[in-house]
Amino acid sequence: MKEEAKNIVILGAGESGVGAALLAKAKGFEVLVSDAGIIKEKFKTELFENGILFEENGHSMEKVLAADLIIKSPGIPNSSALIQEIRKAGITPICDIEFASRYTNAKLIAITGSNGKTTTTYLVHHVLESGGLKVEKGGNVGVSLARNVIKDEADYYVIELSSFQLEDMYDFKADIAILLNITPDHLDRYNDSITEYGKAKMRIIQNQTADDVFIYNADDKEIKKQLKSLEIKAQTFPFSLKDDTVEGGFYNDEDQTITIKNKLTMSIHDLALKGKHNVQNSLVAGISGRLVELRKENIRESLADFTNVEHRLEFVAKVNGIQFINDSKATNINSTWYALESMQSPTVWIVGGVDKGNDYDELLPLVQEKVKAIVCLGKNNSKIMDAFSDVVDTIVETQSPVEAVGYGYQFATKDETVLLSPACASFDLFENYEDRGQQFKNAVRSL
Ligand code: ADP
Repeated sequence: MKEEAKNIVILGAGESGVGAALLAKAKGFEVLVSDAGIIKEKFKTELFENGILFEENGHSMEKVLAADLIIKSPGIPNSSALIQEIRKAGITPICDIEFASRYTNAKLIAITGSNGKTTTTYLVHHVLESGGLKVEKGGNVGVSLARNVIKDEADYYVIELSSFQLEDMYDFKADIAILLNITPDHLDRYNDSITEYGKAKMRIIQNQTADDVFIYNADDKEIKKQLKSLEIKAQTFPFSLKDDTVEGGFYNDEDQTITIKNKLTMSIHDLALKGKHNVQNSLVAGISGRLVELRKENIRESLADFTNVEHRLEFVAKVNGIQFINDSKATNINSTWYALESMQSPTVWIVGGVDKGNDYDELLPLVQEKVKAIVCLGKNNSKIMDAFSDVVDTIVETQSPVEAVGYGYQFATKDETVLLSPACASFDLFENYEDRGQQFKNAVRSL
């Protein structure tokens, strides 16, 4: 990037691109927003009202290549012809977070991982906010960091980061970097290599110094492997569900407690979020709370009164004693593993959609233990049927969420559970995972 960059092109007009455009405009840059497809009306209006030029249905390459700085949407792969051409011209595109972080002096708490990013971002934000701090959340979820930085009224930003964003970050430094886990996801963008994907995730600690903190999952195989070849300059606070000697926080299975930084102990039954994966997320939030010097009592209270984020193991309703849970955001095997693991009663499992290369064998023991019937909700369910036909007697197929809920209601009895945790992407039958979750909830509520 040229230091005196005045002319910015932003590729992709989603929340991250539009947020970056608004910040760039506020900082006096010449801005062009360019999208290969159609821009949503609400964003067009916002750009227009702020006097920001935009184009859709294609990029004017001469304008793109004349830019002093290019900010790209994380949705555009670095391997795409567009980015290759830009790089050939000697320009290195950056992501919106990298750009926004240049315009704030607030403390940055950055969170990444294959699963649990949004939940943990919201939970950390909740703990800090309940403790009376001026904190905003966003990044890869909700409001973009750039949009928040325009007014820049917070002392802390809790930022969710995807591996795609991290790939285009160079000078960004997290005061607190959090790495939840590295399990197979999005491998299509990493030459099917978990090592390459993991490397992108590890960029979360780049530029950290001894004044910074790195919180990570000490139980995660891929993280351990990656850490062997990296020099960590930050202070580390690992967390674990198995090892009670780690310094960040651990879970004790015997008395079902968590202990944070050796001082704060709390029963997992008092945590608002249930399930082992959420024990990890709660440990992370508790460690973060202690690091920003909140009182133990405040942290305990906020870990207990948090309301879960929609579509993540979200309790929907109890109908005739049958509980319905919406975990539509579970779009890979690992997240569904944790969902099934946390089930406390016999479960009718609604699963399926667009398979991202799933290996269902990993779920077999849990399915055998917890699942009484399977409802496949996808266009092509053959892999799921093959994987589980030996361990579950009742397996049915449907392409209708209403019918899926109907089957759930039919197969479950009082005190049992119907769980939507698809382990797959949603776009064969739905607009996105939110749409899938919403349709599920609507169907439950009209039972
Ligand atoms: P992300 O933002 O990384 O996609 P979310 O917080 O939206 O993660 O959660 C996605 C799914 O992953 C949820 O359905 C939940 O069941 C599961 N999940 C949440 N936290 C974790 C974790 N720490 N480890 C594994 N799975 C998790």
